[in-house]
Amino acid sequence: MEDLRVAIIGGGAAGFFGAVHVKKNFPHAQVTIFEKSNQVLKKVSISGGGRCNLTNGCTDPDELSHAYPRGGRELKKLFRIFGPAHTMEWFESKGVPLVIQEDNCVFPRSQDSSSITGTLIKEASRAGVNVVTGSTITGISKDPQNFFILEQDGSPLKVRQSLEKFNKVIVTTGGSPRKEGLAWLQKLGHKIEDPVPSLFTFNIPADPVTKLMGVVQEEVTLSIQGSRISSDGILLVTHWGMSGPAVLKLSSYGARLIHEIKNTFVLQVNWTGSQNQESITEQLRILASANPNKSMANTKPGNISKRLWEYLLAKRGFSTPSTPGNQPAFKRWSECGTKGINRLAEVLVNDQYLVKGSSRFREEFVTCGGVGLSGVNMATMESKVVPGLFFAGEVLDIDAITGGYNLQAAWTTAFIAAKLSF
Ligand SMILES: Cc1cc2nc3c(=O)[nH]c(=O)nc-3n(C[C@H](O)[C@H](O)[C@H](O)COP(=O)(O)OP(=O)(O)OC[C@H]3O[C@@H](n4cnc5c(N)ncnc54)[C@H](O)[C@@H]3O)c2cc1C
Repeated sequence: MEDLRVAIIGGGAAGFFGAVHVKKNFPHAQVTIFEKSNQVLKKVSISGGGRCNLTNGCTDPDELSHAYPRGGRELKKLFRIFGPAHTMEWFESKGVPLVIQEDNCVFPRSQDSSSITGTLIKEASRAGVNVVTGSTITGISKDPQNFFILEQDGSPLKVRQSLEKFNKVIVTTGGSPRKEGLAWLQKLGHKIEDPVPSLFTFNIPADPVTKLMGVVQEEVTLSIQGSRISSDGILLVTHWGMSGPAVLKLSSYGARLIHEIKNTFVLQVNWTGSQNQESITEQLRILASANPNKSMANTKPGNISKRLWEYLLAKRGFSTPSTPGNQPAFKRWSECGTKGINRLAEVLVNDQYLVKGSSRFREEFVTCGGVGLSGVNMATMESKVVPGLFFAGEVLDIDAITGGYNLQAAWTTAFIAAKLSF
C-alpha cells in the first residue's frame, strides 16, 4: 500500500516488537508508537525481577498452550508461526545471547532486562519507528476518508500534522486492572472480559501452618474445594500462607473463580503429589509394621520434609504439645492403630486450609481478562468489528502461568498483527 501509516498504541513489549516487524514487512510505512508514560518498555525492564524471563524453552505448541488458562487454544496455531524458538532466534540474531535455565525459563545471558529493552529500542530506532511518549490515547474514530483518528480526552490527538491520520492501528496497551480502562475499546463494539488479577499467593491467616515458614515441599497437588481446578508443583510455606509455583499456577487457572468467591475458599493439599489415599495408607501400614517401637517422627513416608511431617503428626494428635523448654513427644508406630493410619493418610492426601485473601507475587503478575477473543480474528489479530484495527499483547484476554509465557504471547501476537492482514 502506498503511503501506509500505522499507529501503535502502547510502547511495551507487544508495541515495540510489532512496530519493528511492521517496518520489516512494510519498509516504506510510517510507523508511530504512542506511549502514555514518559518511559517505554517499563514492564519489560522490571520483568523477571529485572532479569526478564523473555520466553520458555518449551517449543511444542501443544504443550505450550497448556500454560495459558486463557487463550491457549487460540495461541496454539500461532506458535507454529512464531513461537519460543523464533523469539530466541530473533533476539540472538540481534546480538543478545540467551540462556535456558533448568526449569526452561529463558533469560538474557547478561541476566539484565536492559539487554532486551535496549535491543527493542535500538531496532525500532534503526528501522525508523517514531516514538511519541507522554501521549495517552483515549479513543479512536474514523474520518470521512476512512482514516483512523486517535483521540485524547475526546479530541483528536494533535502531535504534528503527519501524525494525525492512520490506515491501520495496533492496540498494545497491556493489561488493565479496571474495566473502565478499556471502555474506549468497548465503545468500538468489543466485548471486554472483566479484568481480574492472576498470579498471586494465598493468605491463610492465623493458621498454625504458617509456623512452617520456609518449608518447601517438592511435589504437591493443590485444588480448590468444590471445583475441578487443580495444579501441581513445588509449594512454599510463607509467614502469610502459601506460595511457590504450584500456588501461582492454581491462582492462574482459578483466577476468575477465586475472584468470584472473593478470595475465600478451602484449599486442598495433597502433600504426596499424585498418590491416592489407598496407596499412602498401604505405605503407612508397612512403615508401622516395620518400625513398631520407633517414634513416628523418625520414620516418615516418601519425600515429606521432617518439619512438615512433624507438623502433620501433631495436627492429627500423634504428639504431646511442646511446652517451654520441652520438645513435643511423638507416639510410637505401635500406638497408631488402623484408625490412626487412616487419619494420617487422609491428612497427607487431603489436608485443608481456609484461604482468605491473596497477596501479589512480586516477580510477575498479570491481568486475566481484557479484549474478548471472540471479537478478534485470531489468525490475523484484526478486529472483527473495526477493520484495520489490530490487537496484540496483554490487552487481549490472554494470560499464562509464570515462566516467560506472558511475554511470549506478546511477541507472538505482535508478530502476527504486524502483517496487518495484507
Ligand atoms: C513485575 C512484573 C514482572 C513480570 N515478569 C515477567 C517475566 O519475567 N516473563 C513474562 O513472560 N512476563 C512477565 N510479566 C508479564 C509481562 O511483563 C506482560 O505480560 C507483558 O509486558 C505484556 O506486554 P504488553 O506489551 O502487552 O503490555 P505492557 O508491556 O504492559 O505495555 C503496555 C504499554 O502501553 C502503555 N499504555 C497503556 N495504555 C495506554 C494508552 N491509553 N495510550 C498510550 N499508551 C498506553 C503502557 O504505559 C505500557 O507502556 C511481568 C509482569 C510484571 C508486572
